[in-house]
Amino acid sequence: MEVFRYSQARTVEGAVRSGGAAGSSFIAGGTTLVDLMKLNVLQPRALVDINGLALDRVEPLPNGGLRIGAMVRNSDLANDATVRQKYAVLSEALLSGASPQLRNMATTGGNLLQKTRCYYFRDTNYACNKRQPGSGCSALDGFNRIHAVLGGSDHCIATHASDMAVAMMALEATVHTQGPKGERAIALDEFYLVPGDTPERENVLLPGELITHVTLPALASGTRSRYLKLRDRAQYEFALASSAVVVNVSGGRIERARIAFGGVGTKPWRSREAEHALEGQETSEEVFRRAAEAAMADAKPLKYNAFKIELAKRALVRTLKETTQAA
Ligand SMILES: Cc1cc2nc3c(=O)[nH]c(=O)nc-3n(C[C@H](O)[C@H](O)[C@H](O)COP(=O)(O)OP(=O)(O)OC[C@H]3O[C@@H](n4cnc5c(N)ncnc54)[C@H](O)[C@@H]3O)c2cc1C
Ligand code: SF4
Repeated sequence: MEVFRYSQARTVEGAVRSGGAAGSSFIAGGTTLVDLMKLNVLQPRALVDINGLALDRVEPLPNGGLRIGAMVRNSDLANDATVRQKYAVLSEALLSGASPQLRNMATTGGNLLQKTRCYYFRDTNYACNKRQPGSGCSALDGFNRIHAVLGGSDHCIATHASDMAVAMMALEATVHTQGPKGERAIALDEFYLVPGDTPERENVLLPGELITHVTLPALASGTRSRYLKLRDRAQYEFALASSAVVVNVSGGRIERARIAFGGVGTKPWRSREAEHALEGQETSEEVFRRAAEAAMADAKPLKYNAFKIELAKRALVRTLKETTQAA
């Protein structure tokens, strides 16, 4: 671990000012950042601690939606009464992640910005374009079992690791920020970038731009939602494939569907193809399977991860069955 400066931000404005300095990084729960600093994967010259900011509340919005502060801990968000009742997919996704101890530390902002678990990224002995642009990608011809089948490029095929972000993608969340140029509201669908030839750029945040909160829109009454995560072991493991479903069913037909996948894409992967294949259709296994096929039509398997395509399809079919059978 390299030497670094440390300061505590008292206000959002102060955090943005300090966070904008070259080599600075915000630190929230530290569960991603400190790990990567110990491994010398990240070497910030200054840490700006944002734990003192008053961004730790979950509040209902006048329009029926929800406002989630960036410093709300993952366990608090998962157990919030409104989230459990109205946004079950989010609670389930959060509770499927990490361990209780980690969830007690991990924050909403930090979870959105957590780094990939690609083992070559985390090991400085290997070439990695994300860690060191232009050095190459060890995963392309390496052991790529955990890597992405959607959204990859010749420069990077790392998956995004967050479960929470997959649920938020299906809930059409908006990320709110404050940066050197003022406040911004960014649809989560436009927040993450696919790697292309700049895998080191993972999102649209500018240097020093702080996530202040996330908002979820109100859901129509009768909306049902669910998160299913498939992984190598039942606990304390990242997704090989996961699916988030938010649906409205009336008279046996799907009126509205929002679908996102985890574990298979280079970003939390919303599937408009699956949504189109579902909306207006009856709730049958045949329709669910067609939606799953549409979702994975552009998937590109690598040497070791082709199994993820069928796994993701089955995850979606099962999640749809479980979500709609009670409707
Ligand atoms: C062993 C282990 C298992 C895990 N398993 C899972 C899992 O199964 N599923 C899953 O989804 N996650 C998992 N995680 C990841 C965990 O959810 C994240 O580490 C956590 O959510 C990150 O939040 P944090 O507050 O600790 O972020 P930090 O480590 O503090 O920060 C992460 C990044 O976000 C930036 N940042 C933080 N807050 C802000 C903000 N408000 N504005 C701008 N930038 C900000 C930091 O600068 C840093 O770059 C696991 C982690 C570990 C260590
Ligand atoms: S997949 Fe991405 S993160 Fe992994 S080694 Fe290749 S460039 Fe690095």
